[in-house]
Amino acid sequence: MRTFIQNGRVIDPSCRIDAGLNLLLEDGKISCLTTENLDADEIIDASGLVVCPGFIDMHAHEDPVINGVRYADEQKANLACLLRMGVTSCLAGNCGDNFEDPSAFLDQVDREGCFVNVSMLAGYTWFRERISKADRYSPAAPEERKAILSAISEALNHGCAGISFGLEYVPGMDREELERAAHLCSSSGKLIAAHIRACAEGSLAAAAEVLEAGKKESIPVEISHIGSMAGYGQMREFLDLVDSYRTFGVDAGCDCYPYAAFSTTIGSAPYDDLESIHCSYEDIELCEGIYRGQRCNKAIFEQERAEHPDYLTVGHVMKEEEIRMAYCHPNVTVGSDCFLSEGNGHPRAAGSFPRFLSRYRKECGISLSEALYRITTLPAQRLGWKKKGTLRPGADADLVLFDPEQICDRSSFQEPTLPPAGIEAVFLSGELAVRNGVIVNGHLGKSIRM
Ligand SMILES: [Zn+2]
Repeated sequence: MRTFIQNGRVIDPSCRIDAGLNLLLEDGKISCLTTENLDADEIIDASGLVVCPGFIDMHAHEDPVINGVRYADEQKANLACLLRMGVTSCLAGNCGDNFEDPSAFLDQVDREGCFVNVSMLAGYTWFRERISKADRYSPAAPEERKAILSAISEALNHGCAGISFGLEYVPGMDREELERAAHLCSSSGKLIAAHIRACAEGSLAAAAEVLEAGKKESIPVEISHIGSMAGYGQMREFLDLVDSYRTFGVDAGCDCYPYAAFSTTIGSAPYDDLESIHCSYEDIELCEGIYRGQRCNKAIFEQERAEHPDYLTVGHVMKEEEIRMAYCHPNVTVGSDCFLSEGNGHPRAAGSFPRFLSRYRKECGISLSEALYRITTLPAQRLGWKKKGTLRPGADADLVLFDPEQICDRSSFQEPTLPPAGIEAVFLSGELAVRNGVIVNGHLGKSIRM
């Protein structure tokens, strides 16, 4: 199968190309960039559109299986939302969470296909809860820790890209438990990704804990969704701290979603102490149940926390200028943190990448080519994906065609799954997955094993 994409503005941040060029895709790969017109089975006119590598989401969550069904409404699935906004590959299993054995999920993606290509982290909390009798507030026993490590080891051998932690959600997990797990990655050089132990004033010490673990084991460290960790007045110092570890030689990176509001379930540990997260009851919006769309008061908060601890909420508490500061830093990538419950939740799942490319790119004064570097080449390099994040001949033909004037997010806190504007076509392995903003094939994604 040969597909020829002609008359586009081709931007390949991996080799700093930004030019009017045509592109030939052949057998799932980029065949060549050319000024000539070539014959093909399918010809696509990209006049007025940017043609670039597919976006890479550094911080995703796979969709859970509920009552035996993973995608009850495909339009509202996390990974479908990612695809519609131009994401072709993601790193899932973040924040310590998996919904099932991550190795089994990788196998299933290869059997049945998926909306996007998926790389998986082994979620430490998921394994801990399967194996240990300890709850989230207490330490796991020594023999349980051993069993957790051995199960995670197996997942790493099965192709998981590293280990994720959700330290803020598991106050009972101590530093030693973190360090022993990090040690599992030292021989392979796989990464650890952390939702760190504390946000706001506690975020600096919390980031240092994870960065130290990475330094000790010489492994890459990804600090997750830094807007929700340090976006309360700590961002400058936080970015400086991460940079200081980079100067020690630690391969440290950060991702951020482009919103000044976080999202978590109402029963989760971060809500144990609202003051420490700069949050009042009125800052918290419920995303599910009879109070959907409403802000809390003390009575509603306490009632829903007791009766529906799994309900998603949004906390409108971070500072807009701190999110901007994060994106002005050249080493910060985009992670959507897509986490919808039957289509309810935070609009980041369906809007993050177009919102970064329109609003934040402009507010930070970043060129289009540089912005695309941050969401294609940079994450591919961090993850060691040589065939992605680039349009070099031989690379995987994962592409986005978008209108640079029209692209913007449309999802909102009222309608979190509304697709963005301006994404005209998305290709995975040389085949069309999205056309005119609509998913035409949701099974082209494969596993990415490390
Ligand atoms: Zn998280």
